[in-house]
Amino acid sequence: MVEYIDPMRAIALSLYQKPTTDAEVASQLCFLTDLPAEETLSFLSTLTSDNKGVLVSPLDQRLSWFKRLPIDPTSFVFQPVTPHIPVRLANPASFVYVTTFRCAFNCKYCYAERRIGGHIELDLPQIDKIAQDCAESGCVGMQLSGGDPFARKDIIEVIDAFLCRGIHVQTSTKSILGRRVLERLSEIGLRQIQFSVDSLDGQYSQYMLGFQDHGKAIRDQVELASSLGIRVKTVTVLTPYNIGHLPELGEAMISAGTGKVIFTSYGRSLYRHSDELFISPEERRRAEHIVKGLQDKHPDAEVRLNARADHTELSDIEREKAFVSRARCTAGRESLVIYPNADVGFCESIPLDFFRIGNLAEQSLISLWQSDTMMELVQPPREKYLGTACFDCATFDECTRRGRCLRDSIKATGTAWAPDPRCHNVRQKRTRLT
Ligand code: SF4
Ligand code: SF4
Repeated sequence: MVEYIDPMRAIALSLYQKPTTDAEVASQLCFLTDLPAEETLSFLSTLTSDNKGVLVSPLDQRLSWFKRLPIDPTSFVFQPVTPHIPVRLANPASFVYVTTFRCAFNCKYCYAERRIGGHIELDLPQIDKIAQDCAESGCVGMQLSGGDPFARKDIIEVIDAFLCRGIHVQTSTKSILGRRVLERLSEIGLRQIQFSVDSLDGQYSQYMLGFQDHGKAIRDQVELASSLGIRVKTVTVLTPYNIGHLPELGEAMISAGTGKVIFTSYGRSLYRHSDELFISPEERRRAEHIVKGLQDKHPDAEVRLNARADHTELSDIEREKAFVSRARCTAGRESLVIYPNADVGFCESIPLDFFRIGNLAEQSLISLWQSDTMMELVQPPREKYLGTACFDCATFDECTRRGRCLRDSIKATGTAWAPDPRCHNVRQKRTRLT
């Protein structure tokens, strides 16, 4: 199995070169990164729980980490030879396949490009050709997306087309799949699945997604999937109205067999946005407290909260620090997106109508990856930003290498060719994102 880890995780793992403690590694990591001690320890704790089964206790002298997972830091720390070329893979390592724009739900916070009908979806022989093209282009992983991928009746065959070519498939759904579908998924070798679930409270589920018994049905589905050997992750979108439901929801999902329980704060949606759904700093702190309680009580599961302070809450200094150290954009650098009609796009979170690189019926995946249209999105010329802070920015090239989030620029201004709204150089009114 191929696993990607970000540089921070790679550096942290490389520090476990001999039997050592988290506290010792945390102190070295603090020195290297300037992160606060508490944040570093919490990062290491997530890192070790993420890698359960691969890593063993560093204090266990019989089978210490470095014997199981030797990582020589000199094997990945390097000086770029040509610093002006952005780090970009020669072929896409992964892709998002939006199999359909259909979805049976009607969530108030919907993040997906959802169309009821009237759009082209590929049939299985066409998907089979695309799977072959992806495998030949060197892709090793994919994320099935939508709409809801399970709105397609033939989704098992779709997944099989990629799995049988050695492409690692990750998929998420809000659908209630039933025993037969889960058994088939297990038979074809799907080893993990993500279920979206918002609450066990019927009134909330009815209000938020239009299905009163959704939470309970997902809990039963987690139990079934786990019994069939499929690892389950659940993701819950936090709004001001379901924070009080988290303890009961978390307990239910963990006891049903979920290995990873993720709570993630509502973020501005390009499709169905409401300011009312943002959580406040107090609500975030309440969620942190609940998540910590769940994690302490269930050390064998991973319970995580993705709810950072929004950029509008930060001081100028904090904002600059956060923006300069932001995660690299992977769109067009490591991955791309394939839409239901075989159009290829840049980032899954950007509606198809914004950027169309080409279509797989006319060109191969690798030729689209290498196309000028794709390169213009990865390295947009300065002229595109005429009249904005980016046009005159002294760090434009460095910023391009890391990537500005075109999706968030669209959210804030309606156009991709504007500064990343999280950037400290933005002087106009700030748009809240999370
Ligand atoms: S988003 Fe624009 S203004 Fe901000 S650092 Fe990047 S290039 Fe400069
Ligand atoms: S454009 Fe934004 S959302 Fe899309 S991959 Fe890049 S950073 Fe992520």
